[in-house]
Amino acid sequence: MGTGPGAETGTEAVRGEEGAARAEPGVGSAKGRFGIFGGRYVSETLVHALTDLEDAFGRHYPTEEFQRIFRGLLRDYGGRPTPLYHAENLSRIVGFKVYLKREDLLCGGSHKLNNSIGQALLAKRMGKRRLITETAAGQHGVSAAMAGNILGLETEVFMGVKDIARQEGNVKRMRLLGAKVKPVATGEGVLKDAVSETLREWAACSRTAHYLMGSTVGPHPFPTIVGAFQSVIGEEIRAQILEKEGRLPDAIVACGSGGSNAIGAFRPFLDERDVRLHFVEGGGESLDADNCAAAFVLGRPGVLHGALMQLLQDEHGQVKPSRTRAAGLNYPGRGPEISYLCHSGRVKAGYAFDSEVFEAVKVTCRSEGLIPALETAHALAYILGHREEFDKGDVVVVNYSGRGDKDVETILRHLEGEI
Ligand SMILES: *Cc1c(COP(=O)(O)O)cnc(C)c1O
Repeated sequence: MGTGPGAETGTEAVRGEEGAARAEPGVGSAKGRFGIFGGRYVSETLVHALTDLEDAFGRHYPTEEFQRIFRGLLRDYGGRPTPLYHAENLSRIVGFKVYLKREDLLCGGSHKLNNSIGQALLAKRMGKRRLITETAAGQHGVSAAMAGNILGLETEVFMGVKDIARQEGNVKRMRLLGAKVKPVATGEGVLKDAVSETLREWAACSRTAHYLMGSTVGPHPFPTIVGAFQSVIGEEIRAQILEKEGRLPDAIVACGSGGSNAIGAFRPFLDERDVRLHFVEGGGESLDADNCAAAFVLGRPGVLHGALMQLLQDEHGQVKPSRTRAAGLNYPGRGPEISYLCHSGRVKAGYAFDSEVFEAVKVTCRSEGLIPALETAHALAYILGHREEFDKGDVVVVNYSGRGDKDVETILRHLEGEI
């Protein structure tokens, strides 16, 4: 790490910028700060592309026309609104009322399309011809390819060579959709290296290409933009729970790494102090295991890919990639907004271990007939494993971020002998 534009990591870079960070408080301020987190730690060549993007978002996103097209595509192509499902059997097991926000039913099988359609639309407005992005599990790459095709934009997806080898299904889907998959062999050949490579590519071709950032990470304005497009999730939860329960939920639980599905679900509730918010990270095998991704337990603030974030790093400040079973939770940084919300105490950070996650998959399969994505199963494992944090009368919404078709092999391998 530390080779891409703005990819400096570690305490040196942070120490150098900390004063500046403190001088610019304010959530979502013009500088893209969430408390001390966020910002724009990039090379000169990217500043222009980022200010252009910020301007374009400010100009187009609030307009009636943009909203009409964005919401229309999410409805007619994506299948929104996704249902809010009262999971009665799961509720009986945990002892409180559980609703699942069914993002698995969004076209593509996860929440990712909300953001991809929004950004592709924005790129089109900006006159770009090409989308470049990166992906780990391939879910985001697939949704970017879908959005690119709808809007007539070429799509190129950078992917670590290790991830290409383990995500054969999604690589095939991307190729079938016509996207170019670009193998990244630098570093460890995983997601963080693919992000660095995409930033490098963007610095060279930002006039004609848009970097379709896949989560609420990266330099300002990406975390703000991605959070805005994903907020459709929380807006729908609010309307749906008011209709079903006549009140707001007691808690919302979401899994994540960069934080986009969590921020999307949480944003419309941030000022509702009675709504508890839980963010669940990948715990890996244990807190000592090298596949642990519990950044709010083991990490500390540091700069990666252009932003100050809660970051998994070793004692020398080098970024530590995690290797949880859920590929979608393996980004080493937590986006600026979720970092801030967890540090400030508004959101409670938690984690689930692999064994609990597979157990949650089994319970959800058997009780509700739903196979959750391994990422999503972290949120389910949390409510199963922390029942004491919820009261009998509580109404709890779990953001059911995606379906588990992509994980069936992994799940079966793990549960072998048990089923
Ligand atoms: C990508 C993914 C996640 C993690 O991404 P966030 O940006 O942290 O939300 C979670 N669940 C599913 C199903 C995913 O595909």
